Amino acid sequence: MCGDPIENGELIIKDGNIVEIVTQSGNDDAALDLSDYLLMPGFINAHSHISLTAFEKKISPTDSFVNWIRALISLNSALDDDSRVEGIRSGAEVMRHSGVTALGDYVSDPELLSVIGDLGFRSVLFLETIGFHPEKAQELCENAEEVLLRGNPSSICQLGLAPHAPYSVSPGLFRSIGQLAQQYHCPVSCHVAEIKEEGRFLVLGDDSLEGLLKERSAWDPKWQPPYKSPMQYLSSLGILDRLIAVHCNFVSDDLDLMAEKKVGAVFCPQSSEWFGRTNLMPVRALLDRGITVALGTDSLASSNSLNFLDELRMADKLLPDVSRKEILTMATFGGAEALGLPCGKLASGQKADLIGFRIPSSYSGPWWDVPFELDRREVDFYRVDGKPNVLSSE
Ligand SMILES: [Zn+2]
Repeated sequence: MCGDPIENGELIIKDGNIVEIVTQSGNDDAALDLSDYLLMPGFINAHSHISLTAFEKKISPTDSFVNWIRALISLNSALDDDSRVEGIRSGAEVMRHSGVTALGDYVSDPELLSVIGDLGFRSVLFLETIGFHPEKAQELCENAEEVLLRGNPSSICQLGLAPHAPYSVSPGLFRSIGQLAQQYHCPVSCHVAEIKEEGRFLVLGDDSLEGLLKERSAWDPKWQPPYKSPMQYLSSLGILDRLIAVHCNFVSDDLDLMAEKKVGAVFCPQSSEWFGRTNLMPVRALLDRGITVALGTDSLASSNSLNFLDELRMADKLLPDVSRKEILTMATFGGAEALGLPCGKLASGQKADLIGFRIPSSYSGPWWDVPFELDRREVDFYRVDGKPNVLSSE
């Protein structure tokens, strides 16, 4: 991810960190022979909701996003704890086999933090908050602060904050979360500009999302539309700096603002395809502006697979003007940049989060095509923090 591939390289790891990369230094007996492998930094799944894995194939795509949310809320409230945890572990297994070493996951129930934190991924667990009614803001913020005070769930796992979306979080709650994030030095992530209704709700004061909010007893009769795009609105609330913004399907007019505020954008290829989105994140334009773009799986409530190799292949299909090398950078270094993690490239001082693909000697294509091969379902080598297998459920 930071230069041409090194042939016959030797990667030296100590205490979970990459110390040095050299070419054929010598014959160290402790060295692992991976001479027929393509070694890469592990994939970083920058946006997921792993606690929704149990909804695999339970919801069908629909034209109405609001109806999808309704279906999800109803299923989510009926799911028992055991099935949820079973889903989380099976989702983690699929991600791990497909090369995911780090995760940015939205967690709405703090009780699940220890389960998700124990999956063995380097991770940022974003406490998801939803509350459009202004009276909810204080309580939600106090709850989030209580969780932050308890500290990070593990040494490779840190906490972040995720106000759900501009149409489901009140302006006051956004501001308070921004302050909490500053106080506790937390990364912040939010679904932004995902659906056209969101833009209309904010820019025109359209009523297409009002019904849903009323149903949820979340409507604020005093709501005044800001008459701003989602990005401009979040900027006015002081929450856009270094925001990890997910989806960004309608941001073509906000590229300068995103670059200025160092927003990291997370593209979820399979989720976009599942919803049949016709407006996609303008990934080419974002990359050309130097804006960080990462990849995420989203959840099985809006995708058919958590296999990250499927995600790469879908990105390749949906982004004809983005090269495979760029997609691999998004899948690794882009995710690390967005989430603020010390991994995502093979370089000295980086965490030894590594994956490898075994390449038959007959292979003659370019290295960057290997992870995209149609029949690839999993990686052949995997390390997080230099360790071979960190899934505590195994
Ligand atoms: Zn999401």
